[in-house]
Amino acid sequence: MKVRIFDTTLRDGEQTPGVALSPDKKLAIAKRLDDLGVDAIETGFPVISEGEQHAIKLITKANLAADLCGLARTNKKDIDAAIDCGLNYIHTFIATSDIHLQYKLKMSREQALEKAIEAVEYAKSHGLQVEFSAEDATRTDRDFLKHVFGEVAKAGADRIDIPDTVGYSTPQYIAEITRDAILTSNLPVSVHCHNDFGLAVANAISGIQAGAQCAHVTINGIGERAGNASLEEFVMALQCLPFGQQWETGINTKLLYETSKFVSNLVGIVVQPNKAIVGENAFGHESGIHTHGILNNPLTYEPISPELVGRSRWLQVGKHAGVHGVSAMLNEYGVKPSEDQLRQILEKVKTIGDQGKQVTDVELLSIANEILGEHTIKRLVQLSGFSVSTGIGTMPYAFIKLNIDGTDYSGTDYGVGPVDAALNAIQKITGEIAKVRVKEYKLDSISGGSDALCEVTIKVEDAYGNMASAKSIGEDIVTTSVQAVIEGINRIMLKKTLKQKKIGN
Ligand code: MN
Repeated sequence: MKVRIFDTTLRDGEQTPGVALSPDKKLAIAKRLDDLGVDAIETGFPVISEGEQHAIKLITKANLAADLCGLARTNKKDIDAAIDCGLNYIHTFIATSDIHLQYKLKMSREQALEKAIEAVEYAKSHGLQVEFSAEDATRTDRDFLKHVFGEVAKAGADRIDIPDTVGYSTPQYIAEITRDAILTSNLPVSVHCHNDFGLAVANAISGIQAGAQCAHVTINGIGERAGNASLEEFVMALQCLPFGQQWETGINTKLLYETSKFVSNLVGIVVQPNKAIVGENAFGHESGIHTHGILNNPLTYEPISPELVGRSRWLQVGKHAGVHGVSAMLNEYGVKPSEDQLRQILEKVKTIGDQGKQVTDVELLSIANEILGEHTIKRLVQLSGFSVSTGIGTMPYAFIKLNIDGTDYSGTDYGVGPVDAALNAIQKITGEIAKVRVKEYKLDSISGGSDALCEVTIKVEDAYGNMASAKSIGEDIVTTSVQAVIEGINRIMLKKTLKQKKIGN
């Protein structure tokens, strides 16, 4: 049975405190959602602003495969605004809980029901597809809620939505009112769950198990307050957990990570590292016991394969590390120490870990260099030319020339400062070749004075979620930054090349 994915990243997601998207960005996200395979996109709330209307018009003209929907209160002005934007599907809502009726709408239950019916009839008379939401449904008197759903169905609504507006429901209760809604309306039912108690995805799944056909979700779970049910968690739970075998979605799961990163960058909300499916640590391992298990069979400590959601697994060593993990991490860079050398490396790793310090691939490779001797790592990328110009009244500008595996490439770009310009120019070249981007950049001053040594630490990531860190120390901030980034790119490209070879074998 197909579960319908109604994505509201561009409406409820945009209502996240501090988030506002330009029309171009909304269009860009809509295209990504369409590529991902969502069934419906809630494009926005047409009546709120001219910019919102402009954005929705751009989306309705973009020839997307998904159904396009707009939010409207139960009044003509809101519905007309949706029609003006070229939408033929609205999500209309009115609150039905006593607390909302008394303090927000200052209406009786009967008045609210009357408005709901009028709005549905008005929208239907304009040929719109209508999804009706009883706002704050989970705090609404259960008999009244049933009555409302029955009446809007009679008025011609096409779909019923149950919003758990303040995340107040439990899986058991949302299942009960989902069954109520199906029985009284005889229409397809959606659930719209919020995460105030961390139950949004569990509640959405429970709604589906009780017969709902659709869930309202957002990328990365963004949305008002604690957010909405997260698309990636909901979809992967349906696809991968034993209970979900009877359901399927139209989502191309291999695009989940990429879409998550894209939305995170555009809305400016960082995904927490321990977030399921798309968080940085979701497929990362440090402990020796886990790493050993993973290397023998990844299913020992990973419920699903990272490739399924467009990611790669990564290992990190530290005080919990074992010999297998260290060896596997070094092999990723083509470094193959002897057993004795490996033991010495592990000893050093544990000493650093015991001091409470992180052992990234930077430290691990430098320890390996120390024990195995220099030139442990093959370099694919060489910096063959580089200049920057900066000053007042001129935009910082950089020229970069790289030799990648025997071929010369050059690139130029601007930036907010010389470092930014240089990094942009490098990424222009490597972005095309290896889709590598700089994920983190950190600059520290090691000693005082204007001739102080600086230390640049960077983390780079490619399109497949492979990551590598690198560090460089020098006197010139710009040159040192460029060297660190080149080193990071070398490492990530080497990782990728070695992986491809392995697959080839
Ligand atoms: Mn909501």
